[in-house]
Amino acid sequence: MIHELTPASDATALDVLKALGVDELSEITWPLPNMEPVSANVYWQAFAEGAPDALIEIGIRKVGYRACRVWATFNEGKRGGVVIAQEIGSLEPQFFTWSACAHEWDARHDRLMSVYQCTKCQVAYRVEVEG
Ligand SMILES: [Zn+2]
Repeated sequence: MIHELTPASDATALDVLKALGVDELSEITWPLPNMEPVSANVYWQAFAEGAPDALIEIGIRKVGYRACRVWATFNEGKRGGVVIAQEIGSLEPQFFTWSACAHEWDARHDRLMSVYQCTKCQVAYRVEVEG
C-alpha cells in the first residue's frame, strides 16, 4: 500500500526542506515552486529518469477544490522532482513536476559533449555526443 513506502532518511528529507527554503514540513508553501501539471506518462518518465534521492509525504493539500494527499520526490542534481497528489475519497491521482529554480539553461557544445548550465542556480549536466 502506498502509505507504507519506506520514508526517506532524515538527512535526505532535510535536503528537500533546505531546497524548499524551510525548516519544517509544515512550513512548505503550496503549491511547490515552479509546479506544473503533467500527464501520467510524463510523470513516470521523470520518475524513472530522475533517480530520486528522497521521497517525502507533504500531507494534505488542496489541488483546485480537491483535498489531496501529496508526496514529492527530490533529486539533488535537478534541484526538483515529481509530485503526486491523490484525491481523498476518489483516490484519483494527479501528477506534477516541481523545481526549486525555474532553470534557464545556457548550452555549450563541442565535438564530444554538450554542457548545460543554469544561469540562475549554476546546476549543470552534460550530454555525451553519441558515436
Ligand atoms: Zn536553476
